[in-house]
Amino acid sequence: MTQRLNNYIGGAWRPSAATEMLPVLNPASAQLLAEVPLSPGAEVNQAVEVAARAFPAWRRTPVGERVQPLFKLKGLLEANIDAIARTITEECGKTYAESIGEMRRAIENVETACGMPMLMQGCNNEDIASGIDEHMIRQPLGVVAAITPFNFPGMIPFWFLPYAVAAGNCFLLKPSERVPLTSWKLFELVEASGFPAGVIQLVNGGRQAVDAILDHPEIRAVSFVGSTATARYIYSRAAANGKRAQCQGGAKNPVVVMPDADMEMTTRILADSAFGCAGQRCLAASVAITVGEARANFTERIAESARSRKVGFGLTSGVEMGPVISAESKTRIEGLIARGESEGARVLVDGRGGKVPEYDGGFFVFPTVLDEVAPQAEIARTEVFGPVLSLMHADTIDQAIELVNQRSYGNMACIFTTDGANARRFRYEVNAGNVGINVGVAAPMSSFPFSGWGESFFGDLHAQAHHGVEFYTQTKIVVERWPRDWSRKF
Ligand code: NAD
Repeated sequence: MTQRLNNYIGGAWRPSAATEMLPVLNPASAQLLAEVPLSPGAEVNQAVEVAARAFPAWRRTPVGERVQPLFKLKGLLEANIDAIARTITEECGKTYAESIGEMRRAIENVETACGMPMLMQGCNNEDIASGIDEHMIRQPLGVVAAITPFNFPGMIPFWFLPYAVAAGNCFLLKPSERVPLTSWKLFELVEASGFPAGVIQLVNGGRQAVDAILDHPEIRAVSFVGSTATARYIYSRAAANGKRAQCQGGAKNPVVVMPDADMEMTTRILADSAFGCAGQRCLAASVAITVGEARANFTERIAESARSRKVGFGLTSGVEMGPVISAESKTRIEGLIARGESEGARVLVDGRGGKVPEYDGGFFVFPTVLDEVAPQAEIARTEVFGPVLSLMHADTIDQAIELVNQRSYGNMACIFTTDGANARRFRYEVNAGNVGINVGVAAPMSSFPFSGWGESFFGDLHAQAHHGVEFYTQTKIVVERWPRDWSRKF
């Protein structure tokens, strides 16, 4: 019988009363793995009420004690990393090595949040006026929620959960309904790590569950990662309801290749950026702009690298790239390639219709390289979220930076060069929140905020590190006077 996933509310696993279930498929084989409930709003409300009741005691728990379950969780994540990585590969499609890499990033966020006794310290000024002291204290908000996407089911919940609870909030996760098995595995470890009941909840679902989160008056802050259209919707509705919101959206990441770049290294790194995780990374290189003579050197190398990438099921040894998430994604991506071709691009490597022996039903799109893509073509502007690299060419770095800054997204921009002055200029001038210099996936480590500009981010405080701490706390200023005049003693 197909397994039905439960919600985790008030420290217990509870079946959902949902009338609608979605199938969870292995995208490499289309095999049915489980069914996920599209929980009704009432179940979100129930989870929020349980969390609101747990909040006063959790908030009063000293911060040094609040991080103890996180230390335990880190150990459990390390001990179970293999099983979780396999689950990620099975439901999300990326390779086992990519899944392990993702979980390492998740664990690093738990480690960083364990520093909360220092991270959430306030500040003060004695004698800000004569005999008056002023303090800034950080206090938790209450109940907070995160809504996460399909492409990093193990990592992205940990951009939020550890910071939120270590800062003294109670937390609700609504994971992507396309990859709910990973959250189930993670929450079994959360359950074993010793948080009091009600501090952390999991509610599976789709739009109804999201709207219940956005409308519940007890939820004080919403963190979101997903496509730009949804990010914009969630940011507006959360704000209209008086909530804090940090909403990370989609991307279209350009990479500039200068003629002086180390071409062997650049090709290797860029192939991984464009085709790794089947291009389903918000930091995937999507457009490579070669400058001057870089074109001749880079074009055939990247095409060859695309042709030789081994595609298949991510648990098969030697496989370098897995499928895309769904049949709909495959159709959409192949349609965008066709549109690119009709708008004048030259298809150097065509990944449409690729087949993997023994995985006939899988949603595979093989690595694709399009050359001579016009800046105004749809493929140059739209997030593809598949293994497709578009090539453009510029005569100078000025033209290349202009092309980079033309787009509406601002998640990442990278340059490959051996010239420090060009690198500095690029870093200084590009409109992007995350910049890579000879790096293809400029993903900030957990001790830095995951930036993002333009249509890639709505809000001001980003995920991770001190931005996470600020997002999940409110500042209280205390101005203090004790009038007895003892100062003359000194
Ligand atoms: P998505 O927007 O379809 O879904 C994300 C979440 O929003 C899911 O939990 C889903 O249930 C919910 N949702 C979807 N449509 C909704 C609607 N109409 N109303 C309310 N809730 C809705 O995104 P996805 O396809 O799961 O993820 C891929 C996208 O996420 C890409 O655009 C990618 O660039 C982006 N992403 C961005 C970052 C970043 O850091 N900026 C990181 C990872 C992924």
